[in-house]
Amino acid sequence: MMRYFFDNASTTKVFDETAELMKKMMTEDFYNPSALYSHEIQNRIAKAREFLATKMGVRASELFFTSCATESNNWVFNCAVKNKNGNVVVGAGEHASVYEPVMRLKSKGVEVRMAPLLKDGRVDAEQLKSLCDENTTLVSVIACSNETGAINDLPSISETVRRKSPGALFHSDCVQAFLKTPSQFDAPDLMSFSAHKIGGPKGCGALVIKKGVHINSYMAGGGQEGNMRSGTENCAGIIGFASAAEMFDKVVDRALIKSMKDTVVGSLRTIENVIINDSENSSDFILSASIRGIKAEILQHLLYDKGFVIGLGSACSAKTGKNRILKAMGRSDKDIEGSIRISFGWENDLRQASELAEALKETVVYLRGKM
Ligand code: PLP
Repeated sequence: MMRYFFDNASTTKVFDETAELMKKMMTEDFYNPSALYSHEIQNRIAKAREFLATKMGVRASELFFTSCATESNNWVFNCAVKNKNGNVVVGAGEHASVYEPVMRLKSKGVEVRMAPLLKDGRVDAEQLKSLCDENTTLVSVIACSNETGAINDLPSISETVRRKSPGALFHSDCVQAFLKTPSQFDAPDLMSFSAHKIGGPKGCGALVIKKGVHINSYMAGGGQEGNMRSGTENCAGIIGFASAAEMFDKVVDRALIKSMKDTVVGSLRTIENVIINDSENSSDFILSASIRGIKAEILQHLLYDKGFVIGLGSACSAKTGKNRILKAMGRSDKDIEGSIRISFGWENDLRQASELAEALKETVVYLRGKM
């Protein structure tokens, strides 16, 4: 059965052109880039680094490839907190790959201060300001929420950090923002990225460490990535990451993404007791809604049988059955039970979105009728 995939915040289909390039890299141009005879491969990695850095608005020398954004985030929390007597400030809306390493720091005795969320999913900037002080060593706030699409104002948070905690580093998880929202990547000192959210392969990410920012290296070994992250480069992944970024900008029609979201939101708004977990400036790629009086897993299942794949909030929180982020936004357990996440990608079109909008409404009405 042909299914329309609307869970693109969890991962995306790899572009055919990207997969072709990667296949060639793995089967023909497979030399180890560290070998002296591998100039050609080294050049291609350098070009990919340069291209991605330009897209991120940073220097190529500031971009370090990793195996995924989870690794990039872990790198930050393992290696950027040098003064264990200071405090770390993080938003309550962070992805598990930030939240869990932060909890580990806490269990080791580091003081962790959690900045609450506003009802619309953005971090409460005023509260964050009051949590930052001269003993803060690291602040981390997600650029765009993987759960709701809420976009945080990185330049303004960065200004707060510089003013109140001049000795602190500012990190942002930019995975869902990259190429999808008008986020400004010049503000943070450290930024995490992932290839598989933009039509690239799983297993390739990046950490940007701005010039003049000193954090410890992560993996010791052969000295790859400027001796900051050893390990033989994932050449196909790196080439695939750059190719996907190029394809994404070529193929994705942002106005169409907005129309698709508007279409599904429009349909949800005609149903009673539905909260759209949205903020004024949230990403057009992500739509979160809490549908009271239904169980989201059952809705997901019925829609799957009808040919639509949707999410239940982030894949990570779906596994634990908890939704820490919606909770932090003040949603009740009942609302959370009926919460879905629909996320749009390069393969979707308006007809698919209209069909989903119709099926969604029909299925919610059916489920409510059963109660
Ligand atoms: N950060 C955010 C905001 C994400 O959405 C994800 C993916 O789910 C990650 C980090 C982890 O990315 P990766 O799968 O590359 O480890």
